[in-house]
Amino acid sequence: MARDWSDLFITGEAARDESEPAAAAERRRGVFRRLRENLSKTRQALRGELQATLWGTFDEHTWERLEEALIMADVGASTTASVVARLEAEAAEGDLAGGEELSGRLIELLAETARVGDGRIDVRPSPTVIMAVGVNGTGKTTTIGKLAQVFRAQGKTVLLCAADTFSAAAIEQLEIWGQRTGTEVIKTKAGGDPSAVLFDALQSATARKTDYVIVDTAGRLHTKQNLMLELEKMRRTAQRIVPGAPHETLLVMDATTGQNGLQQARQFTQSSGVTGIVLAKLDGTAKGGVVVAISRELGLPVRYVGVGEKAGDLLPFDAKEFVESLFA
Ligand code: GDP
Ligand code: MG
Repeated sequence: MARDWSDLFITGEAARDESEPAAAAERRRGVFRRLRENLSKTRQALRGELQATLWGTFDEHTWERLEEALIMADVGASTTASVVARLEAEAAEGDLAGGEELSGRLIELLAETARVGDGRIDVRPSPTVIMAVGVNGTGKTTTIGKLAQVFRAQGKTVLLCAADTFSAAAIEQLEIWGQRTGTEVIKTKAGGDPSAVLFDALQSATARKTDYVIVDTAGRLHTKQNLMLELEKMRRTAQRIVPGAPHETLLVMDATTGQNGLQQARQFTQSSGVTGIVLAKLDGTAKGGVVVAISRELGLPVRYVGVGEKAGDLLPFDAKEFVESLFA
């Protein structure tokens, strides 16, 4: 089902404003339009290869070209192999009459693969705690700023927690997002204890009944093991102050790194309780197909995609809409 921002967050009160179906539909169309625009590079890459494939009768060549096109779009070797094998079998059974049916079925299969779980963030009694984790430079801090903007636009109260204390610059960057979105930032000095600043943030959020706390974390420490231990400690701290926290742990991935990013992502999913993916930097890459590989290989829902550096450049993810945008 296609959706827009208004049904991304489930709350006790009805999140969807039914009195404004026209406005909601218009917003959804806007999201779809922007997604299509931002996927143009991937679409071009796929299209060149596919056009030749989708006409005429199917033969060995068809499947080879299709495989090549999908791999070029970074759908990933194993996902590509399984999807193409399935199409080949269906064609052999006589279930696919021509190019149009083939492409329709391809979209269906890819969308099925990219659809994991429910794409929505389950909103709990205040505060809902969202942690952003991931490799340095993938887009965590930027995504947090954009998310703050989304929540503020919904009239929610938000507190940002600068628990990436690795450098002064990291803290300043979050503060800039705080100013931009009218959101308070709880921080400590560079080199400070991330769990201590998280503790402070959650205590004040609880006292003030803040709707959301979004926690920035470091993407690197002196060793990878240190980083994972630190994230683990932060999770325990969060849990002690707010039962069930963090309610959502978003792994932020960089779309331009394609399959390499998947390798790095696994380390986080193994040790830091990731519940969803944000794929940043989808603008300007021809590797948009990586969404399909991520869903399949990590088994986690993609929640949002980042399509630029500005506050409004975060879009809710819908598997079908996304895959359709790759082709048409
Ligand atoms: P972090 O180290 O994970 O916190 O990553 P940052 O949020 O600092 O982002 C690293 C760089 O990527 C910055 O220059 C951001 O402006 C840029 N960036 C983040 N998200 C996007 C996006 O969706 N599109 C583009 N084009 N750039 C992005
Ligand atoms: Mg950062």
